[in-house]
Amino acid sequence: MPYCHHCGKKIDQHQVFCPVCGRSLVGSDTEWQEFKLYDSIHRVTRKADAYTALASVSITLGVVGGIILAFLSDAAGLFGIPLVCWGVGFAAAAKRYDLKAAYLRQWLGR
Ligand SMILES: [Zn+2]
Repeated sequence: MPYCHHCGKKIDQHQVFCPVCGRSLVGSDTEWQEFKLYDSIHRVTRKADAYTALASVSITLGVVGGIILAFLSDAAGLFGIPLVCWGVGFAAAAKRYDLKAAYLRQWLGR
């Protein structure tokens, strides 16, 4: 539950004006908006980084599996296939969060 940043009362997330103090919850307070944007960018960037790390670990392990499969002809290397698939999925998720962060930064105008 979010709070009004003017009077501190609980408010509905989608409300534009605080029902208690009547002040605008959007638009007027640029500093607060910037703070929220920074916060979102920070969180989105952290998610992108986490997914990038997951993607590189999965793909690296997947490649190791591929090498085992190709050079040792060992079925144990088959584990590389789902890992590469996951890695690609993680990379796609990282890309989405990267784009979102870029979009938010653009919004912030820097
Ligand atoms: Zn208020």
